[in-house]
Parts: sequence; structure tokens; C-alpha cells
Amino acid sequence: MKILISNDDGYLAPGIIALAEALKPIAEIVVVAPDSNRSGSSNSLTLDRPLLVFCADNGFYFVNGTPSDCVHVALTGGFAFKPDLIVSGINQGQNMGDDTLYSGTVAAATEGYLFGIPAIAFSQVEKGWAHVDVAARIAREFVERKLDMLQMPYLLNVNIPNMPYEQIKGLKATRLGKRHESEAVIKTLDPHGRETFWIGPAGKAKDAGEGTDFHAVANGFVSVTPLQIDLTHARQLDVLKKGLL
Ligand code: MN
Repeated sequence: MKILISNDDGYLAPGIIALAEALKPIAEIVVVAPDSNRSGSSNSLTLDRPLLVFCADNGFYFVNGTPSDCVHVALTGGFAFKPDLIVSGINQGQNMGDDTLYSGTVAAATEGYLFGIPAIAFSQVEKGWAHVDVAARIAREFVERKLDMLQMPYLLNVNIPNMPYEQIKGLKATRLGKRHESEAVIKTLDPHGRETFWIGPAGKAKDAGEGTDFHAVANGFVSVTPLQIDLTHARQLDVLKKGLL
């Protein structure tokens, strides 16, 4: 098996190093990741400047671009490597509910999925890298599972609680929950006295009921959500068709 690994926290992040170490014994791996933290970059591609690919001492490739750039370059001729699977992460912090739209971790996986390659995004629920070794072990065990029941290609969003291995209750198939709207921006003054704005934290969970990703991780399970990219709202389409007659 050939696996392309990427992330959005950058090629130096403990999550991607742990992930690569965990997958190395079971697959031929190539790591292509952003040169710096690009969390929140969503599916953006860099179109206004050239991309450069560098190789670090540990063999990881790093790119002056976004997670989507990394996977895009790797799949469209930057490397003579045709992966069977894209694995993204392990992200520092959860990507659940509406986070998935902003996530660069999910975006790196999505980029592979758009090229017809199955893809999995892994995130740890809490920031700070506690139990990242456990998350890496779970990622390897998950990659080793037979997922023949899924239609190909699949796109899976996996969130792992930061816990000792023995305390994790298992895997749970989930749907995305929903968050309340984001907290307010944080205003500060810069040294020139100008008002500046930092994007505030994500909103608290709103739909976190049974069956959601939020509910699964809160109860000690690894959440596995199958994603799709077709944004068409089927019911609204039917209403609109009639309304536009
Ligand atoms: Mn991140």
C-alpha cells in the first residue's frame, strides 16, 4: 500500500511525525505538508505565486502553500508516486460539526478524494498533543481495517479523544453535529494605535445529540464520519424548481 500523508499544522508538527512513524511499518509513505501552520485554510489553492517543494532531513517534503496545494502538487505530477490512500493529520484539535468546512486537515483529505482516491482525516479532540502516540496507534489500526463495505472513493473524518488507549471505548459511525455561531472577534490595538481583529473561537456545540461526532467523543469513542462534497440542497432544489415555474 502507498500512502500520501499531509496535514495543516505543518511538516514539523508532532501529529504528522507520529502519524508517519505509525504508518511506516505498514505502507510505503510519502509526506508532503505545508512549511508552516495553515490551520483554517480550508480547500484554498495558491494561484498567485509559484509553489516550491523542499525536502527536510527526515525525508518529509514541505511546500510554501496550503494543505490542498500539497496534495494537489503531489497528485498532479510533482511526484512519481501514485497513492492508494491519502491520510491527513493528526491534527492538533477537533474537526467536528461545522469545523469541517474550515479545516485544512479535512481539506487535504478532500483534495485526494476529489482525485478519486480514498482519504481519511485524523484529529485529536483536545489541543496540546496529549496522548498523540495513542492517536497514531488508532490511526494505524484504522488504516489497516478492511473498509470494503464503503463505496469508493470514501472520505472519512476521524476525531480521537485524548485518552490512554485502554480508556477509549471503540469506534462509532457518526454524522456531523452543529455549532452555534462563532464567538465575537477579538479586538486589539497595534503599535500604531490601529484597531486590529483576531478571528474568535468557534461556537459551542448546538446539535451534539446521540449520533453526532460531538456525542461520540464526549462519551469516549473515536468518531468516524463519512463526508461528501456535493453541496446541493436536494429538498430546496425541489422547492426552487416549483417556485421558479
Ligand atoms: Mn490544524
